[in-house]
Amino acid sequence: MSLSEVIKSTLSTMKREGRVLTPQNYQESFCREAKKSGLVLEECNQLDIYFKKLDQNLQKELKTYHLRNVDELIAYLNGKIARMAPQSSEALVQSMLILIKRMAQVAEQMHNKELSIIARHTAENIEKVQNAASVDKLKEQWIDFLTTYDDSYLERLAVLGDVDKEDLQKSVHTLVDGYSADHELHIPDIVGKLLVASLVPSIAPGMDDEIAVISSQIRKDVNVLDTEGMHSDIKYAIRKRIDLDKASLKDTVFQLDEIADAVSKRLIQIIEQSEIKKEELAEIKKELENLDVTDKKSVTDIHKRLLDIADILEEEAGALNREVKSQQIKISAMDKKIMMLETDLEDANKQVREDHLTKVYNKRALEEKLRELDAGYRRYGRDFTLFFIDIDHFKKINDTYGHDAGDAVLRIFAKVLKKESRDNDFVGRFGGEEFVMLLPETTVEGGKQFAGKVRLILQKNRFVYKEHRLKLTISGGVCQRSDVDSIEELVKTADSYVYEAKNAGRNMILPK
Ligand code: GH3
Ligand code: MG
Ligand code: MG
Repeated sequence: MSLSEVIKSTLSTMKREGRVLTPQNYQESFCREAKKSGLVLEECNQLDIYFKKLDQNLQKELKTYHLRNVDELIAYLNGKIARMAPQSSEALVQSMLILIKRMAQVAEQMHNKELSIIARHTAENIEKVQNAASVDKLKEQWIDFLTTYDDSYLERLAVLGDVDKEDLQKSVHTLVDGYSADHELHIPDIVGKLLVASLVPSIAPGMDDEIAVISSQIRKDVNVLDTEGMHSDIKYAIRKRIDLDKASLKDTVFQLDEIADAVSKRLIQIIEQSEIKKEELAEIKKELENLDVTDKKSVTDIHKRLLDIADILEEEAGALNREVKSQQIKISAMDKKIMMLETDLEDANKQVREDHLTKVYNKRALEEKLRELDAGYRRYGRDFTLFFIDIDHFKKINDTYGHDAGDAVLRIFAKVLKKESRDNDFVGRFGGEEFVMLLPETTVEGGKQFAGKVRLILQKNRFVYKEHRLKLTISGGVCQRSDVDSIEELVKTADSYVYEAKNAGRNMILPK
């Protein structure tokens, strides 16, 4: 942009902004336009050029004035030079002193004891100052005051209404004049409120009806405070309020006492029942017993201790639970072991009474059972029959087919006896190839019938051993208990029948 264009633009801008075309305004606008168009003109930078030539301190001071042009700079420098002239600066100092004195006198009136003292001191001494040091002394007092000034006391007035710290006069008006003007109530109203508040019991849960009535009367019309009746009512209400609180406290303490007592009893039970941390529980028990619940100070203490105790009990209960659980696991493992042992014992018992080859009862078990049946017979007359069996020519089987064949035959024969007998009949191996059967509730006739049946089954069938088919016969003797005098005689008689049967040609049951 050329210089003429800048001038043109300056004029039109000034016109648009409605600025008066003074040389100063023109200069300002022109320089702004030139700067915008990138034109560097010496006349526009004059203020800067002069400014930089000044003393550093003066430059700093001038920056705060935001001078706009050289004219303003010159005006300021003129003022400064004038002040520095001996005559005029003395006049200036004088007027300043008067100003400070007046300000101090005002401050003295500011309703603050400390401030008044400093202000008075300043007013009295400001004219006597000789040098900068004595001015500094005065200055220090003011700085001290400023740093230690505390107006928080004003906040206490806030209970009475709004307080404006910036404007105390207004605050006072609001609190006193304003309040009384608006509400026609002032201090007595506040007293009334305080009184009502003080009548409300602080510990007892609810307010008593009588206290409520008095409170509402005061709230409704604070002037009732002046009546004599109300004086005695208030006295009564205060006493009542204290009584209510006392009763409530007593109640609370009593409840706490009961809780402590219950905990103590439960604790004793736990101590007696368990071995866990006995000492620790005993310690708590002692503490509980010594706990003075009537001492108001210790109510929170009691609460805390009860919580501590609850914690310990919980921990103990947990430990006990874990212990019980682990014991239960051990017990169930032991249960299993016992069951196994019982089965083993049962097996062992069976083995003791069982013939290992044929799995029917052995001679020992037979004798036992015989004694049992004999007892039943002798006591209750329950008769029974003994069937003695001897396999015929058994030796021959062994000799012909081998001992194993003999064993196999014994096993099969025992099975036949079991199969053909009743559940409560008793099959046993007396020894070798001799078997005995005990038939409860059976007469000799019954016995013979059964023995005959067995004999016929054998006669009709062959025992199969490997490729061999073996023929087997038995000789048997039957005897009824009631026909003899003793079990020895019973066995002997049956055996003698067997002997007879052998002699009579075998394969027969006697007596016929
Ligand atoms: P009898 O008709 O006179 O009774 O003749 P027997 O051969 O049956 O009688 P004896 O008393 O002469 O022989 C019994 C045989 O039974 C002798 C013995 O070797 C055999 N014996 C005994 N116990 C067993 C056993 O457990 N297994 C085998 N295989 N044989 C046995
Ligand atoms: Mg024999
Ligand atoms: Mg025989």
